[in-house]
Order: sequence, then C-alpha cells, then structure tokens
Amino acid sequence: MQKGKQLYEGKAKRVYETDDPELLIVDYKDDATAFNGLKKGTIVGKGVINNRMSNLLMQRLEKAGIPTHFVKELSERETLVKKVSIVPLEVIIRNIAAGSFSKRYGVDEGVVFASPTIEFSYKNDDLGDPLINEYHAYALKLATPEEVDTIKKYSFEINEELKAFWKECGVTLVDFKLEFGRLKDGSIVLADEISPDTCRLWDSKTGEKLDKDRFRRDLGGVEDAYAEVMKRLTEHL
Ligand code: ADP
Ligand code: UDP
Repeated sequence: MQKGKQLYEGKAKRVYETDDPELLIVDYKDDATAFNGLKKGTIVGKGVINNRMSNLLMQRLEKAGIPTHFVKELSERETLVKKVSIVPLEVIIRNIAAGSFSKRYGVDEGVVFASPTIEFSYKNDDLGDPLINEYHAYALKLATPEEVDTIKKYSFEINEELKAFWKECGVTLVDFKLEFGRLKDGSIVLADEISPDTCRLWDSKTGEKLDKDRFRRDLGGVEDAYAEVMKRLTEHL
C-alpha cells in the first residue's frame, strides 16, 4: 500500500492518503502534549507502543463484535485504517474517579463508581474540547440521536471488554477516551487509538500510574511505564 499525500498532522499522529480512497495510513509519533497543547515533550518509543497496543486491542474488540477502523499493521509505527468522517465528540468512559472528574466534582482520585459513567466533549481544539451533553451535540449537528445511541452502546461494551482484559494483565482500567467515525455507508466504527495516551491504567496491586499521567504530572519513568503496560498486554494475549 503506497503512502500518498499527508492529509493531516495532529499532536500524536500523522494521517496519509493511500491509493485507495477509502483507506488511510496513520503514522504514530513520539510527540506528547497535555493541557490542550500547552505542555509539550517527547516520550521515546511511544509511537511504536501506541501503534501496536491500539491495533492489538482493536483486533480484540472486533472479535467481540465491535466494528473498528483497523485494517492492517504496516510497520512499527504505521497502520492502514478505514477512512472515516470523524464524529467530533470525545467519548469518555470512567470506572474510577480521576483527572478532570475529580477536579470538577471534588471527588478523591481512586473512588470506584457503582457503575461506569459516560461523558462527551466537543472535539474542537480552539474551544479547548468543552464538555457537552447529547442535546448540545444534536443542536450543534455533531451527530444524530441514532448515532449517539450506537456510540453509547459500543462505548460501554468496549469498557467491559477492555476492563476484563486489563484485569487479566494486573492493570486497572480507570478511564479512557474514544473517538468514533462514519464509514461511507454511514455506519459507525471505533476510530483513532486506544493507548496509554488515551487511557488511565493503574497497576492493580500497587496503584502505580502506567499511563500519560506520568508525563502530565511530571512523575518520571514515563517510557518505563509505557513499556511495562505493553509487556503485560503481550504476555496476556
Ligand atoms: P489530534 O487531532 O487530537 O491532534 P492525532 O495526532 O491523534 O490527534 O491525529 C489523528 C487525527 O486523525 C485525529 O484528529 C483523529 O480524529 C483522526 N482520525 C483517527 N482515525 C481516523 C480515521 N480512521 N479516519 C479519519 N480520521 C481519523
Ligand atoms: N483523554 C484523552 N484525550 C483528551 C482528554 C482526555 O485521551 O483530550 C483521556 C485521558 O487520558 C483519560 C480520560 O480521557 O484517560 C479522561 O480524562 P480527563 O477528562 O480526566 O482529563 P484530564 O485529566 O486528562 O484533563
């Protein structure tokens, strides 16, 4: 598959056209950003880990009946995906209080919820990805009620699959962000990535943070944490 024109360079990935109009190549970088791009850095080897991990998890989700954009891993950092029109919503599922939830609602990090929560942000860097509800999404014509229903259903199913899998790896899935897109026929599929950049992953025994919070909060050992979760994942495939 030929890598064509670069369509987009984001904070963590570059996206390229291919000779098939319905397929794209994503290329994972080591660049790391936080706080809406205010904090910038490099996590050496992150692109390789995020590419692999995202692909392995998406293949697992496909087996569980969740449609994804994954087609084929092309190299350490490059993957062939189905081109989608991204639904401009960041979908966040939480099992345990952390990050912005803890801050916004005054809840200690680590408080376990009776049942998972879902929230949506409007994917818009200029506005700082503001939190919105479903009705705002309809008013802004970001998605239809049918699409939001499908996205919610898939998101909770993905949570159950991933939570169970990470548990086998000795890792607690605290929260994560998903993005969905529309294929040419209008059907909804999981897109973007699932990685330590987009999930909070805590060691089940020690509570040690094994994700991007190590970068966001200057905790050190960022590369080691990414390598550790990747190792646990591959050992439990
Ligand atoms: P950001 O745009 O937030 O800086 P990235 O650096 O991860 O993020 O860039 C990847 C971009 O590609 C994101 O905007 C994401 O929504 C988009 N994207 C992910 N998967 C697909 C896909 N299958 N088809 C089209 N766009 C995609
Ligand atoms: N997240 C993400 N991209 C974003 C915002 C959040 O991948 O632009 C992920 C983040 O890694 C965490 C979850 O979504 O796993 C919830 O993040 P939160 O709302 O607590 O925000 P943060 O504390 O990162 O500001």
